[in-house]
Amino acid sequence: MKSGISRKEYVASPVNFVGDHPALNFINTLHMVGSKLTDTWQSDEDVAAWIVREGLRDTVPSTTWPDGSLLRKARQLREIARKAVEARKAKKTLPLDELNGFLERSVSHCVLSARSRIDLHFERVYGQKTVEQYLAPVAESVAELLSHGDFDLIRHCEGEQCVLWFYDRTKAHRRRWCSPQLCGNRAKVEAFRARARRS
Ligand SMILES: [Zn+2]
Repeated sequence: MKSGISRKEYVASPVNFVGDHPALNFINTLHMVGSKLTDTWQSDEDVAAWIVREGLRDTVPSTTWPDGSLLRKARQLREIARKAVEARKAKKTLPLDELNGFLERSVSHCVLSARSRIDLHFERVYGQKTVEQYLAPVAESVAELLSHGDFDLIRHCEGEQCVLWFYDRTKAHRRRWCSPQLCGNRAKVEAFRARARRS
């Protein structure tokens, strides 16, 4: 399967994992490149490859849907997720109907399989007849974040133009930036310039 970027490039780019939770990495697939809001996804293949890289599914779809439908639905779910995370963070009433619509269409069951006589594996397997079914683990990850996430630790990067969210899992819980190499560094340079201007 083809995708816009290789796995190596994906892993090497710090922006892809700053969320530290699949649902936040999901929202973060729309991010700033320079001063331009840029979508990591431009095709169905990009979305499917992202889902596999995040570990939300083991395989890209074996079913084919109308061209562009996975991209369209994934973008729709991403906006639902973003609004829900923003509302939850601001302690506002959560719009749940649309997310529940995705969850309702999720089809899954558990399977017990044997790797050897003494190694049994128990896992949940998701349907993939429709794009909503393929996106089910993503929708569930968003629901899991909203219901179980600690929103004192789920924050928006303090970078002025930044749109990225992250789950602060540091020991001191003082994380302020999506990444020290990105906004953290920019803030340090600006603070240095401000001090230089004053002196
Ligand atoms: Zn940032």
